[in-house]
Amino acid sequence: MHGLMMETPLLVSSLIKHAALNHGEREVISRTTEGKIHRTNYSEVEKRAKQLANALVRIDIKSGDRVGTLAWNGYRHLELYYALSGMGAVLHTLNPRLFPEQLAYIINHAEDQYLFVDTTFVSLAEGLSQHLETVRGFVVMADESEMPDNNLPNTVSYEALISEESSDYSWPTIDENAASSMCYTSGTTGNPKGVVYSHRSTVLHSMTACQADVMGISCLDAIMPVVPMFHVNAWGIPYAAALSGAKLVLPGPRMDGPALHELIESEGVTITAGVPTVWLMLLAYLDETGGTLETLERVVAGGSAVPRSMIKKFEEKYEVRMIHAWGMTEVSPLGTVGTFKPYMCDLSADERYDVQEKQGKILPGVEMKVVDDKGTALPRDGQSVGNLKVRGPWVCRTYFKNEGTDAFDSDGWFDTGDVSTLDQHGFMHIVDRTKDVIKSGGEWISSIMLENIAVDHPAIAEACVVNIPHPKWDERPLLLVVRADEIYIDRETLLEHYADKVAKWWVPDDVVFVEDLPHTGTGKLLKSDIRSAYKDHFSSNKTEE
Ligand code: ADP
Repeated sequence: MHGLMMETPLLVSSLIKHAALNHGEREVISRTTEGKIHRTNYSEVEKRAKQLANALVRIDIKSGDRVGTLAWNGYRHLELYYALSGMGAVLHTLNPRLFPEQLAYIINHAEDQYLFVDTTFVSLAEGLSQHLETVRGFVVMADESEMPDNNLPNTVSYEALISEESSDYSWPTIDENAASSMCYTSGTTGNPKGVVYSHRSTVLHSMTACQADVMGISCLDAIMPVVPMFHVNAWGIPYAAALSGAKLVLPGPRMDGPALHELIESEGVTITAGVPTVWLMLLAYLDETGGTLETLERVVAGGSAVPRSMIKKFEEKYEVRMIHAWGMTEVSPLGTVGTFKPYMCDLSADERYDVQEKQGKILPGVEMKVVDDKGTALPRDGQSVGNLKVRGPWVCRTYFKNEGTDAFDSDGWFDTGDVSTLDQHGFMHIVDRTKDVIKSGGEWISSIMLENIAVDHPAIAEACVVNIPHPKWDERPLLLVVRADEIYIDRETLLEHYADKVAKWWVPDDVVFVEDLPHTGTGKLLKSDIRSAYKDHFSSNKTEE
């Protein structure tokens, strides 16, 4: 027997339609690439997205066509999110921090038809343009008067493209399983792979993100995604904000402490989200200036492990709750979010921080298991360490053009490449990436845990632990650190700092002090480069300072 409810498809257009109709006056604030603050609202965003959809039809963008964006978090990018998906085309956000060769590969692989670029990325696009095989033209996301000189072929300004268009456009009813957007993995191993989100997965992910036990976004919130709109759709916030009618604050290219603080205070931001590095910069700025956070209630952080010292500082000094989340491009991205469970409310602050250091509890809709090397599920005891597998309605089932099939099991699980534990409360704790864990004498050492201990020392600004071949133990941990400015620390003192925190055989074998550490286009430590630069460190028995 079939249910007798309407089979209304779950479409991205329904989100902006709802926001425009029921929260039309709710503001969307952007810091533009020129530095000005631009104010609009959901009703205007939908109106201009419809003008843009008419323009896209005019330039012959058809259902299923991919259109690339090289843009910061701003209102025009938001309009593209809704116009492209809404009309049945596919929004393809490109990470401008990738190497140009990787970007050209990704654009050609996705077969993008047009590129929309912020003024700051015009020269990047110029460098790429001769390598692009499918791109028919460029749209510079600016007013006619702000158009930079450029030598891009077939180029128009965004405002000239849409200005003559009518806002009379009806969002078409399409299949909810049709592609709405796509995003490539950063390609830390092999070529980047395309993850293609559907309307259905996007809407379900947005609904879940808004739940009280997830990000808890409501129409009373002002939300500021610092995570870029080119990084897994800013963790789904542009959709979740419209769905809930929350005020949306888009920081543009300025992700530094002063700029973020100014926006938080002037726009009354209650919730924000981004990677830990951004929050380090904000905290450093607040420490320096004695600034406060008057309206901010919650900071969602993920992408890499959030250090305990950061969770503690936000809570104890600024009365802001830091919520640790885990996700990946293949998971839309949210898989776990560390909002509280009842038992946590009775814990001491220190015991509670132990839980908050974990990556969070499994979202409804998502299933997770940790398995040993034979694929057998391990107990959920918070101790058993294994490979993390995940499945659910917003988890990728295959990569674009069917690449990288090894990551997908025949029984429908996706292998995340993370090594973790699960506990009886549903909290997941990342121990490491499979390729980064240190296999010493048949036992595993977590590089993340060793890095967290190092950065919890005030003399350390950033730390990286890599697995380096060792003649006796197979691999041993090597610690690379960037010193913080204020305090000096030497090798012995730093290694002593580990003494009461980990087993003796976990303590790194050596420390290398460096000026800076290499990062990937998504801000993660580029451990593959570091590993190859130091691959002989233990075999040649080198020690530095
Ligand atoms: P890529 O997989 O290409 O590096 P993603 O942005 O999709 O790019 O990164 C996902 C990975 O980031 C996860 O598999 C995990 O290793 C790491 N990650 C994400 N969130 C966290 C977190 N809160 N703590 C530790 N690692 C995290």
